[in-house]
Amino acid sequence: MVELSQLHEPTHTITWCPGCGNFSILAALKKAIVDCNLEPHNTVIVSGIGCGGKIPHFIKTYGFESLHGRALAAASGIKLANHKLEVIVVGGDGDGYGIGANHFIHASRRNYDMTYIVQNNQIYGLTTGQASPTSEKSMKTKSTPFGVIEQPINPIALALAAGATFIARGFSGDLTHLSNLISQGIKHKGFAFIDVFQPCVIWNHINTFEYFRKKCYKLEQTDYKPNDKFEAFRKAFETDKLPIGVFYQEQRPTYEDELPQLSTSPLVKQPIDNIDIQKTLEKYL
Ligand code: SF4
Repeated sequence: MVELSQLHEPTHTITWCPGCGNFSILAALKKAIVDCNLEPHNTVIVSGIGCGGKIPHFIKTYGFESLHGRALAAASGIKLANHKLEVIVVGGDGDGYGIGANHFIHASRRNYDMTYIVQNNQIYGLTTGQASPTSEKSMKTKSTPFGVIEQPINPIALALAAGATFIARGFSGDLTHLSNLISQGIKHKGFAFIDVFQPCVIWNHINTFEYFRKKCYKLEQTDYKPNDKFEAFRKAFETDKLPIGVFYQEQRPTYEDELPQLSTSPLVKQPIDNIDIQKTLEKYL
C-alpha cells in the first residue's frame, strides 16, 4: 500500500501565498494518489506554467513542468511512449483555457486515459493579476482597469462539446469532496477533466472562499444523474448557484486502445534494433 509519507518531497519549499487555494488541491491530489494506491514510480505529474504549475515539485512521483499551455501536449507524448504510466496533468485557467485551449479540446476528443485538473482561480496569479479566460465580465484587473469586456469561457460546456468522457468540478475549500472527485477521475478509463474553483487570495477579491461557500452545491445531493449530455449542458450554464461534482461520464475506447502499435506492449518496451535510425537522421538533418 502506498503511504502519504512516500509522497512527501523534502527538497522543495512551497512558495504559494498563505491561504492560496492550491494548498488543498495539492493535499487532495496526494490523498487521491494514496486512495487509488498509485505507485510513485509508475505515476507522472505533468504541469504547465503558473502558480499551480509548481505542483510536480511538491509531490514525490515523476514530474515534468512543461511550457506554458503545453502540459497536455507533453502529457500526450508521455502517455503514448508508455501507456502503462498513470498520467495526471495540472495547470491553471490561463494555462489550460487560454494558451493551451487548443490542446484541451483535442485531448478531450481523443480520450487519452489521463486525468486533467485545472486550478481555476479566474485570474493570472503568477504574473500578478491579469484577466484570464474565466475572469467574470466587468471584473477589474491589472490588464482590464475598466472591467473585462469579453464573455468568459465555460470549461464544463467546452469539455462536453469536445468529447471528454469524465467531466467534474470541485472546490478547493472542500478537500474531501475534491479528493474523491480526483480519485474517480483517476479510476475512469479515458480523459477525466476536473475544473477546480481555486481562490487566489491575492489577486481575485471577487471569487473568494466565502463566495464559493455560499454559491456551491453538490450534484450528488440532488437527484441528478451524470449520464445525460444535454442535462449536463444545462447544469454547466447554471450561475445563480454553482454545481460541483460529476457532470457527465461515459465509457468510450481510449486513444491508446485504438492504436495497433500499442496492442502488444508500450512503445518504450518495443525493440528498435530493426529500425535504421541513421537513414531517418540523414533524411531530416
Ligand atoms: Fe495562490 Fe494567487 Fe498567490 Fe498564486 S498569486 S500563489 S494563485 S494566492
